[in-house]
Amino acid sequence: TIGMIALDAQGNLSGACTTSGMAYKMRGRIGDSPIIGAGLYVDNEVGAATATGTGEEVIRICGSHLVVEFMRQGYSPEIACKKAVERIMRKSSKDLKDLQVGFLAINKYGDFGAYAIHDQFDYAVYSHEHANRKFMSKHIL
Ligand code: ASP
Repeated sequence: TIGMIALDAQGNLSGACTTSGMAYKMRGRIGDSPIIGAGLYVDNEVGAATATGTGEEVIRICGSHLVVEFMRQGYSPEIACKKAVERIMRKSSKDLKDLQVGFLAINKYGDFGAYAIHDQFDYAVYSHEHANRKFMSKHIL
């Protein structure tokens, strides 16, 4: 999945995501990416979130919507992502070592964060503050 979330100079949030799906997927399977609230959710009053990983697990908890709702309750983007990941870890019947799900979020104030079940989850950030470097790569643990 490629998920992108943005806050513009006027304070408006937006998001987009795309996916190649899963290897050996069942015919007709749709993942979380095309489902609003699962792979992507934007509420211009609160924040935006996107997901990557095993789509079925993300769909089950309405993952990106859940992350935005946690931010609405006052949690930082990173903690909101972490709480959604923890819900998946608690509910999933899969062996967690075989499962990867990650969320990326930004709030109305431009704070951003991410969290995933396993490390090796990188994302890139562009902002005016980092304009001389163009992109900052974040590696979360
Ligand atoms: N979330 C995608 C899916 O389940 C997989 C991916 O991360 O690309 O279709």
